[in-house]
Amino acid sequence: MKKAYDYLIVGSGLFGSTFAYLAKKAGKKCLVIDKRPQLGGNLYCEKIEGINVHKYGAHIFHTSNKEVWNFVNSIVDFNRYTNNPVANYKGELYNLPFNMNTFNRLWGVKTPAEAQAKIDEQKSEAIKALDGHEPQNLEEQAFTLVGKDIFEKLIKEYTEKQWGRKCTELPAFIIRRLPVRFVFDNNYFNDKYQGIPVGGYNKLIESLLNGIETLVSVDFFTSEYKDWMKYAKNLVYTGAIDEYFGYSLGKLDWRTVSFKTRVEDTPNYQGNAIVNYTSHDRPYTRVIEHKHFEMFGQEVYDYPKTIVSEEYSTEFQDGMEPYYPVNDERNNRLAEEYRILARKEENVIFGGRLGEYKYYDMAPIIEQVLKMYKK
Ligand code: FAD
Repeated sequence: MKKAYDYLIVGSGLFGSTFAYLAKKAGKKCLVIDKRPQLGGNLYCEKIEGINVHKYGAHIFHTSNKEVWNFVNSIVDFNRYTNNPVANYKGELYNLPFNMNTFNRLWGVKTPAEAQAKIDEQKSEAIKALDGHEPQNLEEQAFTLVGKDIFEKLIKEYTEKQWGRKCTELPAFIIRRLPVRFVFDNNYFNDKYQGIPVGGYNKLIESLLNGIETLVSVDFFTSEYKDWMKYAKNLVYTGAIDEYFGYSLGKLDWRTVSFKTRVEDTPNYQGNAIVNYTSHDRPYTRVIEHKHFEMFGQEVYDYPKTIVSEEYSTEFQDGMEPYYPVNDERNNRLAEEYRILARKEENVIFGGRLGEYKYYDMAPIIEQVLKMYKK
């Protein structure tokens, strides 16, 4: 029987959509299915009050890979958004990542030498307090890396909200490095290129999937496509790897975040896309004001309202969105066992963050698919 498709692609996230785009270019016929009611995976944005709302978490595209940057720019234009997050500690505002603006606000220092001296002084106090012992927990470790002030105002309570545990109860290895910059530069990323697609991420996905057959609200496992061999020569699977194998070796754990989104009746709520709340007086870790990803200057005021999302670190339970793999021993071992099974599946490509049980930013996903295409 002649099969209708070269590739059945499960998942319309960045992996599945980029794969479909390149396969189509190579003359292959694809069908993309997704169990969500819309395309785009985690990049999907919902339009509220004319503003693109990052429904599955704030996404900023950044890369130093010129090939990847040229590729995405051949699909859509990118704007000039630069990620400059701000931290709010009990009402005091600090620039992130830790740089001369942060140090000036913390200690009034004006030169890199003064800032370095202040940090060195606090680091040596912390090392002295250890009295020759290795740091026993995250708190002791962070003290030795950046000193007391940066740790207490900008790291401690934020980390405790993220992990749901005290820093003294978290292992030291979680924080190996805490980069500090002795320049007045609030750009969070060190990458050469960054931005947001002009018109939003949905435009990127729509352009990648232009002319390709797609079906939404179709779960691979409960649909006719489970017998994919009837329809396609190959399967590209970007769903959860443990689910593919019916959880036969056990369930992989995930970390998740949840969002409370609301409309604010003001054109400009916090003056920045991302504000981190680094103290316990707010239960959330960050507040995202979505319009600042795509609107600049006067444009911000062209829309009378704004959309904000509070982001909460949340214990994962069945039915929640699986966001971040848990990199502990049990999960790393289990994921590797599933990957070994995956390699034995004929004509099946496992890809993406769920299919590999690995955290990937967007650019490495594209890099991977481009490499596959070249092969
Ligand atoms: P996904 O986008 O998750 O797509 C997988 C798709 O498969 C989903 O649409 C899902 O519905 C579908 N699916 C799963 N199972 C089935 C099934 N059984 N049947 C049918 N369909 C199925 N990266 C950056 O570069 N910058 C950022 O700022 C950034 N921020 C992030 C913030 C958060 C909160 C998270 C979680 C990730 C962030 N990322 C960021 C990473 C980015 O989201 C990933 O690189 C990208 O989503 C990976 O694409 P994917 O196709 O692998 O996965």
